Amino acid sequence: MSPFFKGDKGGCEGDSGSCHTPFTHTRELVLFPGEIAMKKKILLVEDNPDNRYVVIRLLKSLEAEIIVAEDGLSALEIARKEIPNLILMDMQLPELSGYDVTKKIREMKGMESTPVIAVTAHCMTGDREKTIQCGCTDFIEKPIVPNEFIQKIKSYLAIEDLTD
Ligand code: MN
Repeated sequence: MSPFFKGDKGGCEGDSGSCHTPFTHTRELVLFPGEIAMKKKILLVEDNPDNRYVVIRLLKSLEAEIIVAEDGLSALEIARKEIPNLILMDMQLPELSGYDVTKKIREMKGMESTPVIAVTAHCMTGDREKTIQCGCTDFIEKPIVPNEFIQKIKSYLAIEDLTD
């Protein structure tokens, strides 16, 4: 039934003041092609300024808000405050490593299933397993291949849309 169905007065008689909204029970967000509900937030955790520069340039092709954390502690603080839609996690960070940060992020409310993509320069055997064990969703190796990188991020943001 259309929410605008005019004959539907159920429960509204004598209470004209509060029953004008047709959306009392059916709260739906309707988007038209090309419209986005809200800009997606991507948290980029990267301590190396050159790498940050490269990644930010690539991410700019996406309609997303990019929030940068230069170390693990600020990554935790930002994640808790902003609840990003996706996290790009450099695993080699000073002090608190990307592994530790990801483990802690997984314990945060609302961050249990957020895509966390590990970005690591080391391609040692067992690295992928290590990132998955600490809670990462996926894995990208440096040096970054621009097209693959963007496609991967796009697909994770799209999956998030479907499960919202
Ligand atoms: Mn690093």
